[in-house]
Amino acid sequence: MTETDPYRKEREEMVEFQIRARGVRDERVLAAMRKIARHLFVPKGYERFAYEDRPLPIGEGQTISQPYIVAVMTEQLELKPQDRVLEVGTGSGYQAALLAELAGTVVSIERLASLADRAQQNLAQAGVTGVKVVVGDGTEGYPPEAPYDAVIVTAASPSVPDPLIDQLAEGGRLIAPIGPRECQDLVKLVKREGKVERIPLGGVCFVPLIGQFGWRGEGSP
Ligand code: SAM
Repeated sequence: MTETDPYRKEREEMVEFQIRARGVRDERVLAAMRKIARHLFVPKGYERFAYEDRPLPIGEGQTISQPYIVAVMTEQLELKPQDRVLEVGTGSGYQAALLAELAGTVVSIERLASLADRAQQNLAQAGVTGVKVVVGDGTEGYPPEAPYDAVIVTAASPSVPDPLIDQLAEGGRLIAPIGPRECQDLVKLVKREGKVERIPLGGVCFVPLIGQFGWRGEGSP
């Protein structure tokens, strides 16, 4: 893989200095981030920035999230190899690629068809199989494949969309940025015996989740 992977050293440094050094210790997550070629998920011309400690634009006003935040969210999902996972907000497909490394079944929903198409191309180019990309409003979840052991929402909404909680399996974990439009609290929900425990994980800034159970559209309150 070396001659087709000019960024291997950058990727290893990203994992060591941006992610492990800041406290992400799950070896499965670290190995997945060492393996998945993030530069294949950014637009042409941005490859050399792919391993920097920041989000990058992916078109349509959307972003591929900062690697450290991706790592924290992925670790908090506590994925097991047989888990069924729903991602809301496919974007570039990078997060979905990591989920496919760590879980059994991955469904990823993207609202914008152009991004979903590109994400599928990115996943194919990176050699990732096993991600089902769906175009639709992910605030409604994806009932055909529910329930999910883990749900990750990679866009921000004022509250956790009820359908996503409903589609969470017993023992399931949900991670989402919740709060005002600009910056939010990352929260983890755990469903136990039908009750939902809510754990705050810290501050983040994500693009808005736009849909029936999220924000109502550009510029709306
Ligand atoms: N996880 C992505 C990645 O690895 O590149 C980054 C996601 S980006 C920060 C947020 C994405 O959520 C955007 O692509 C946006 O179009 C999408 N989005 C916003 N509202 C949505 C909704 N209701 N359903 C599905 N996707 C949505």
